[in-house]
Amino acid sequence: MALTGLEIFKLLPKTNCKKCGMPTCLAFAMALAQKRAKLEDCPDVSDEAKEKLAAAAAPPMRKIVFGSGDNQVQVGQETVVFRHEEKFYSPTVLAATVSDKLTGDELTKRIESANALQFERIGTKIGVKALAVVNDSGSSEPFASACAAAKDGSELALILVTDSPDAMAAAAGQVKDRVPLLAAAMPDTAEAMAKIARENGCPLVAKAESIEALADLSEKIKGQGIEDIVLSLEGLSQRDHLYNFSRVRVLSLKKVFRPLGYPTISFVTDGDGDTQVAAAISLICKYSGIVVVDTVEPWALLPMLTAVMNIYTDPQKPVQVEPKVYKIGEPDENSPVMFTTNFSLTYYTVESDVEASRVPSYILVVDTEGTSVLTAYSGDKLNEKTVADAMTKHDVEKLVKHRKLIIPGYVAVMSGKLEEATNWEVMVGPRECSMLPKYLQEIWN
Ligand code: SF4
Repeated sequence: MALTGLEIFKLLPKTNCKKCGMPTCLAFAMALAQKRAKLEDCPDVSDEAKEKLAAAAAPPMRKIVFGSGDNQVQVGQETVVFRHEEKFYSPTVLAATVSDKLTGDELTKRIESANALQFERIGTKIGVKALAVVNDSGSSEPFASACAAAKDGSELALILVTDSPDAMAAAAGQVKDRVPLLAAAMPDTAEAMAKIARENGCPLVAKAESIEALADLSEKIKGQGIEDIVLSLEGLSQRDHLYNFSRVRVLSLKKVFRPLGYPTISFVTDGDGDTQVAAAISLICKYSGIVVVDTVEPWALLPMLTAVMNIYTDPQKPVQVEPKVYKIGEPDENSPVMFTTNFSLTYYTVESDVEASRVPSYILVVDTEGTSVLTAYSGDKLNEKTVADAMTKHDVEKLVKHRKLIIPGYVAVMSGKLEEATNWEVMVGPRECSMLPKYLQEIWN
C-alpha cells in the first residue's frame, strides 16, 4: 500500500527549510501522499528514505512495454478510473490470434491478414498492434515454429499464449529479441513461467479465476524477480469479467493496492465476429489494456479500433490536424486557395467536398487550437491576423500566381479586414461546405 502523509513525514529531514517550496516538511509530506508534489523537490532527503518514498510515489498502475523497435507497445500507467477526471494514457492494444495448428500457406496467410489490419481514420493511423500466437496444438515444437514464423512474417509485437512451461520455454527462446509478452503463468506454473520470463527478459501475464487469487499470484511472481506483470482473469462470464476489471481498476488506482497495480489482458475468442466485436468493445471500455481477438476480418476490427481511438482521445483537447497547406489532387499556380481551421472534423468535411469537386485545390489550415470556424471566429482565434500569419508562414503566395482567397461563408464579415491584411482579393465561399463542389466548378472556374 502507498504510504500515508504521516508515514512519509517520518522519513523526511523535518528541518522545515522550505527548499521544496512548501512551508513545512509536513505540508510537503501531505502533498507527496496526494501526488501533488515530486520527491525530487526535496534536496535533503536521505538515500534510505528516497528508496522507500520512491516506491510510494510510483504510479499506481505499472507501465508495461513489449515488442521491439518501432513496433514496441505500451500498456498501463493509467491514473484515473473515469476519462473525464483527466484522460486515459495507453490505448488498448488489439491483438489478432495465430493458431499453431496452422502450417505452410495457411499460417503465412493468417499472419499477412493480421498485418494488413491497418486503417486511417480522420488523419490518424490505427491498427492491430500485436499477434497472439496460440498453442492450440498442445505441443512445444509446433508452437515454437509458429512463433518463429510470426517473428519472420510480421513486425508486430508478439504475445505467446500457452499454459505449458515447456512450450513457453521452447518458443520464448526463438523470439526473445522481439521481447514478447508471455501468457500466462497460473498459480501452479508461476515459478516455472517466472523463470522463463526472467531468462528471456519478457513481461509475464498472471492468470487466475478471481481477483483475490490474482493478487496472490502477482505477488508470488514479483517475489520471483518479475516486475513487469499483466493481469488476466479466466473462466468468467462477460458480465463478471467487466465487473472484476472495474474492481481491479478501482483497487489499483483509488486504493493504490500494489498487487493489482498492473494493466489487464482479455481473450475474446468465443463466438462469431459479431459477438467478438460486442465483447471486445465492452472490454475496451472497462478496462482491458490488451484485447486478443480470434478474427482478422477488417469489418470486425475497424469498430474495435474506432472505439479505442474515441475512448483514448483527450476529452479536453479537440482532435486536430496539422496546420499547413494541404494539396487536394495536383493543384498548380492557377488553382484555388481556401482556408479552414485545424479542427479535424471541419478539415475532413472540407477536404471530402473539395475532392468531390474534382477541382485541384490548396486548403490552408489555420491553427485555431482545434476549434471549428464559427467557434474560432467568436473566440478571436480566427481573424485577419491569424489567417495572414498562416499565409506567410506557409508561403501561400509562392503556390499560385493569382491573389484570390476563398473564405468560409460563415465568416464573410471578415472580408474587408482580411483584404487589408493580405492584399489578396477575398472571395466569399458557401456557408455550407457541401456546396463547395458547385462553387468551385461554377463560380471559381
Ligand atoms: S525541502 Fe525537504 S526538508 Fe526542506 S521543507 Fe521541504 S521536505 Fe522539508
